[in-house]
Amino acid sequence: MTAQFLPTSLADLKKNHVEQLDIIMISGDAYVDHPSFGPALIARYLEAHGFRVGIIPQPNWRQDDDFLKLGKPKLFFGVAAGNLDSMVANYTADKKPRRTDMYTPGNASGRRPDRATIVYTNKLKALFPGVPVVLGGVEASLRRFAHYDYWDGAVRRPILFDAKADYLVYGMAEKGILGLAEKFKHQTADFNNNPNTVMIKRDISDYHDVLILPSYEEVVADKKKYAEAFRLYYAEGRKRHPRTIIQPCQGRFLVVLPPENLSSAELDGLFTLPFIRAPHPVYGDKEIPAWGFVKDSTISHRGCFGGCSFCAISQHQGKYVVSRSLS
Ligand code: SF4
Repeated sequence: MTAQFLPTSLADLKKNHVEQLDIIMISGDAYVDHPSFGPALIARYLEAHGFRVGIIPQPNWRQDDDFLKLGKPKLFFGVAAGNLDSMVANYTADKKPRRTDMYTPGNASGRRPDRATIVYTNKLKALFPGVPVVLGGVEASLRRFAHYDYWDGAVRRPILFDAKADYLVYGMAEKGILGLAEKFKHQTADFNNNPNTVMIKRDISDYHDVLILPSYEEVVADKKKYAEAFRLYYAEGRKRHPRTIIQPCQGRFLVVLPPENLSSAELDGLFTLPFIRAPHPVYGDKEIPAWGFVKDSTISHRGCFGGCSFCAISQHQGKYVVSRSLS
């Protein structure tokens, strides 16, 4: 069978005789079917495990139409702001609006909202009440704990509290989102053994041998507590087998389950998935600059042991390097 792009419209569903998708991904980036683009990678990974997945790239958040165009998924919506944090994508370090966006056709700005993870989730929760929403991508991953936000000049709550989604999968989260998909499919209630998963709990008495961070209220009030929280979760992430991390927040608890990386063989397998390795034809001849950077490149590994203070790679990809095989 000839490889096809993932469905992006009702016409695609009709053409493939699909009545309802299992999972619909919402992305702040244009749809480039290539493993360097996170939402496409996750969608192809889920597809390879038997799920029917569609993608809605760069929906117009000022209207409902784009969010409705693939209907209601059987299992859940996946939401990602894109390969960049939306505030980084939309503003310069001087807090001026950017005139370009490398992940958008024609390098155009203005195709993703500020704080896209929150905006997209609010839209989905209003249009599809009761359908679970799972967050992923760099924006959600790096904002999983209480964090200083440069644009607000303030410490914000863990993003799951602001976005009001059901779950968040952080880091390189193939196993996390696949586990969630299987649990939703089989209607399993216990998500506590699912890797890379973040959720909000009212009661943590069932959790043992965990790392408890200073609370959101403490890190807002005291810079030393903020630094301590960062030191604690950073050090935990350096361990081969990190513990569950819990951060109290306004009477509830953020629960961050430990990550599980792909093996080298599993990483090799990702790159054999049936990617078209091109932008969706709907973009015509409009160039997507980010595609130009990666189309002739090879991804060799994930993770970095470097720990440079200005770089977040170890917080997203992990401290331990997983390489692809030489063959
Ligand atoms: S800048 Fe980031 S990716 Fe590069 S060596 Fe430092 S931590 Fe690793």
